[in-house]
Amino acid sequence: MENTKQWDEMQKHIEFVYKYNQEFTLKHGRQPACHLRTYGCQQNVSDGEKIKGVLAEMGYTFTDRTQDADLIIYNTCAVRENAEDRVFGNAGALKQLKSKNPDLIIGLCGCMMQQQHIADKIRASFQHVDLVFGTRALRRIPELLHQKLCGKKRVFDLSGEDEIVEGMPIRRDGSIKAWVPVMYGCNNFCTYCVVPFVRGRERSREPDQIIEEVRRLVSDGYREIMLLGQNVNSYGKTLSPPMSFSALLRKLDRIPGEFRIRFMTSHPKDCTRELIDTIAAGYKIARHLHLPVQSGSDRILAAMNRRYTSAEYLSLIDYAREKIPGMTFTSDIIVGFPGETEQDFRQTLELVRRVEYLSLFTFIYSRRVGTKAAEMDDPVSKEEKLRWFQQLLDTQAQIGDRAYESLVGQTVRVLVDSPGKTGDGVLAGRTESNVIVECGAPAEKMGSFQNVRITGALKWALLGKMA
Ligand code: SAH
Ligand code: SF4
Repeated sequence: MENTKQWDEMQKHIEFVYKYNQEFTLKHGRQPACHLRTYGCQQNVSDGEKIKGVLAEMGYTFTDRTQDADLIIYNTCAVRENAEDRVFGNAGALKQLKSKNPDLIIGLCGCMMQQQHIADKIRASFQHVDLVFGTRALRRIPELLHQKLCGKKRVFDLSGEDEIVEGMPIRRDGSIKAWVPVMYGCNNFCTYCVVPFVRGRERSREPDQIIEEVRRLVSDGYREIMLLGQNVNSYGKTLSPPMSFSALLRKLDRIPGEFRIRFMTSHPKDCTRELIDTIAAGYKIARHLHLPVQSGSDRILAAMNRRYTSAEYLSLIDYAREKIPGMTFTSDIIVGFPGETEQDFRQTLELVRRVEYLSLFTFIYSRRVGTKAAEMDDPVSKEEKLRWFQQLLDTQAQIGDRAYESLVGQTVRVLVDSPGKTGDGVLAGRTESNVIVECGAPAEKMGSFQNVRITGALKWALLGKMA
């Protein structure tokens, strides 16, 4: 942590909670357990690893079961209404646990809490929630717990500035793949999106910090590094001197060791030909782009404030396909943006057919308080939107099937990373494009790269034999 005063302050609180938990352990014959549940995107998962890191330093263990927990934290997502509804439902259900065990501490954190109307609702109607903190309070978790353990009834911390906190302990969820944030926040203000309001302004980590972290991960045996940012293509603009994302990638590509670099998300308006050339020239950079298009209609793209046209988007895709053989694409699409017509939707379908994505993340538009789109007329019925949504899924299912089938007979490089589903004790892996390959690898191959000949295609995975 750069600021020594803040670091010392944090250590003081860590020590207090640690001692408190030591006494707990002596009294109960076990360490206090935390149940942390993370909703939403990879940035949240990465924050969750930091929350776990700092809790572990304070003597907490972790449990998957809420009934066994002394501390329950929900790390929330605000991007769509159904994510928020789930949190409210699940947090409401904790009231019963709290009435059985009044010592249970319940915390809600993350993006949802960063919205005033949500924090107000928790304050008024979720009295059993003890801790509420936002995306900017990660390093103050020890202090908040300290206050709670000293008897304060409820602790709310939604303050804080947009900052970058280096040096937080991290307890990573896996040992093969690691998330590495390169930047935080977003300046784009797409009109449907709440992220800039809850995650603050764009800020980039210093390249040396990122390079050092990746070096360490690789020497610890990690084989896949996923660089994270809401818009990685604008990485480095606020650094002095500024640095492009492509330049960062080139430096990471030179780190010795056998590993793969992936990144997300790329905003098409900032995705440069230099980036595509960098992927083409890289040794370790996955030949895959997650490039969310959101819509195929220029009218809707303008209303979304995306700042590119479908033609500009397609010319990027064409350039990448020409430069990088075997390049694959995935995308996010929103169906039913306010004012979208059947004709706009048809243009989205057309674009999807033209690009031939490997897979899509599809969403029905969800109205978010405080965003510009929330004020726009939205006359299309829910039923109509659902009908469009289903058409999009059906269209992509056919395209995805064809894309998978076209790989049969090819030999691909796979990172063996998970238990397989096609036999006892066998493992599966992932291609550069993140497609699951059921390759029947034996247990000792976990975490290794293997060449696999693709022998068949299912809906959700490829089948293969190790070469
Ligand atoms: N920064 C990334 C992703 C942010 S959120 C990007 O720009 O691509 C992930 C996806 O959620 C978005 O790409 C978008 O497709 C979807 N999304 C965001 N806000 C939404 C909303 N209000 N309704 C429906 N989908 C939304
Ligand atoms: Fe949201 Fe747009 Fe920023 Fe992505 S780029 S986080 S969609 S505002």
